[in-house]
Amino acid sequence: MNMQSWLDQNIGGRHGNFIDGEWQHVAKAVAVPNAARRDQVLGHFAESTAEDVERAVSSAHRAWKTWREVPGPERGAILFRAADIIERRAEELAFVVSAEQGKILVESRGEVGRAVKELRFAAGEASRMEGHTQPSEKRNGFAMTFREPIGVIGSIAPWNFPVLTPVRKIGPALAYGCTTVFKPSDLTPWSSVKLMEVFKEAGVPKGVINLVLGTGRGTGEALVRHPLVRGISFTGSTKTGTEINAQAARRLVRTQLELGGKNPAVVLGYADVANIAKQISSAAFTTTGQRCTAVSRVIVLQSLADELTEALAAEIAAIKVGPAWDPSSKMGPLVTDQHRASVLRNVASGLDQGARIRFGGRVLEDGELALGNFLEPTLIDNVSPENLLAKHEVFGPVLSMIAVRDVNEAFEVANSVEYGLAASIFTRDVDEALRFVRESESGMVHVNHGTNSEAHMPFGGIKGSGLGAYSIGHSNQEFFTNLKSAYFQG
Ligand code: NAD
Repeated sequence: MNMQSWLDQNIGGRHGNFIDGEWQHVAKAVAVPNAARRDQVLGHFAESTAEDVERAVSSAHRAWKTWREVPGPERGAILFRAADIIERRAEELAFVVSAEQGKILVESRGEVGRAVKELRFAAGEASRMEGHTQPSEKRNGFAMTFREPIGVIGSIAPWNFPVLTPVRKIGPALAYGCTTVFKPSDLTPWSSVKLMEVFKEAGVPKGVINLVLGTGRGTGEALVRHPLVRGISFTGSTKTGTEINAQAARRLVRTQLELGGKNPAVVLGYADVANIAKQISSAAFTTTGQRCTAVSRVIVLQSLADELTEALAAEIAAIKVGPAWDPSSKMGPLVTDQHRASVLRNVASGLDQGARIRFGGRVLEDGELALGNFLEPTLIDNVSPENLLAKHEVFGPVLSMIAVRDVNEAFEVANSVEYGLAASIFTRDVDEALRFVRESESGMVHVNHGTNSEAHMPFGGIKGSGLGAYSIGHSNQEFFTNLKSAYFQG
């Protein structure tokens, strides 16, 4: 079935919270439109109150007392089943992601596939909660450490990966024996509703996962403040993450924060300029540049700048912008009209500060594109390191070129932002590569490829890009569990 026919048959629902294993009655709801055609309402979704959050957290807290006693391998088996169900329902989930978020179907299918991989890794973690044994000071004694789940996790996600981010939070929480109350972005709630169906079918007991739909101020804040929430796993902007961290600190509640980025691709040398341009363009414009790890700055030696800019312009010119259901589309719309306006404001300020558009930059409104939030992929050069476009997270299809004199300046500029999420370097010189891996102020470094992570490697940022244990990999154990030391005497 194609996406449009599927949508015709499945839109228009009224969706409530999922609390204590049951779908809840919807009192107040808001409409969520298709990102590529605003005239199509995908459904109405609950706007939760603090009382809804209270019921969800209480349910999660009750469920935690039994879920933490379920042997790890059994918890893992349920999550492996959930991964199989996501795989079986992959096409439907991809349709939902594309409809509410806007990304093209190839990207949505990729997102769902990645969620399956991450969930399987998390499921295995349920059998890998490890401590260690040590010699005791006493004869016939021994000492050991082990890991225990911390309790109810408040999980809060943004709108750019509506299937992957929930799975990235729910999978490890459940694997390590925590329970969770999950709040998606109010712009992309439908994928989360679908995921609740998946986890229910997989056999997750009631109360172990709860879904509360709503806004940040109305619903998210109540979740962050709830006294029974022992950990907050948050992905979103640096501004919101900083506020949440301040709230959590008052109660000594642990946070795992995955925040914004201003990720550089440093280009010092290459054998094939077209290949480098392809990799940078893909890292910059996938998901319409709305990826926390998107490359948004190219820092290139002056001697290579013209050639690379030409190659990038040629690569970007081949990106056809359009809706997800058109198989020829290579890039979808921005998530909302307001977000597109914010991207355009940033571009205008950058131009005022001396930058120059080399390609793109126009709003696309011909024919059916007028119904979506479409914008041409945009390449901007003449960007100084002080320009707003070199410093500020634009979170859209905008790539800035910064020309530098030498390697030292390249590394200095790469590190001269408040963020530290992902960074790439392209070079033929192994010493330069090693130096960059050492000196880059970022959580993830990539040599000779774009900023794409893998489904089992720790994922996170430093500086303004994150705080707390990295997600995805085994590092998650540090967030979702407490360490306990135990002493035994024979
Ligand atoms: P956002 O910070 O506005 O919102 C994120 C989530 O927090 C949403 O669910 C929102 O409803 C909720 N929220 C907002 N205010 C809140 C509050 N006071 N208390 C509790 N919850 C609140 O971010 P966004 O616009 O949805 O997402 C874009 C941002 O997310 C970008 O900065 C991007 O870089 C970042 N992001 C980071 C990563 C990462 O892994 N580092 C991944 C994806 C997106």
